[in-house]
Amino acid sequence: MKFCTHCGKELIDEAVVCTNCGCAVNGANSIKGADADDDVPNGGLNILSFFIPLVGFVLYCTMQGRTPRKANQIGVFALVGFIINIVFLVVLTM
Ligand SMILES: [Zn+2]
Repeated sequence: MKFCTHCGKELIDEAVVCTNCGCAVNGANSIKGADADDDVPNGGLNILSFFIPLVGFVLYCTMQGRTPRKANQIGVFALVGFIINIVFLVVLTM
């Protein structure tokens, strides 16, 4: 759900112009653009993925479609975290 930046009326996500005031909806011609704004690597999620690789892999899979850059970085952290976990496991069991 989004809102008209001009009059504040609630709009459907696909709206290009506001049905209330008729002004163009901000960023309307690029739903992809909105995703690109959101496609910024997220430090918190990276760290979470590093410590809990399984969560990282799930995030990687679910975010791949919409925010590939963010997803790729989470994937890298998850992979590194996974490898370190394996190394620790091997070291601890030897
Ligand atoms: Zn409006």
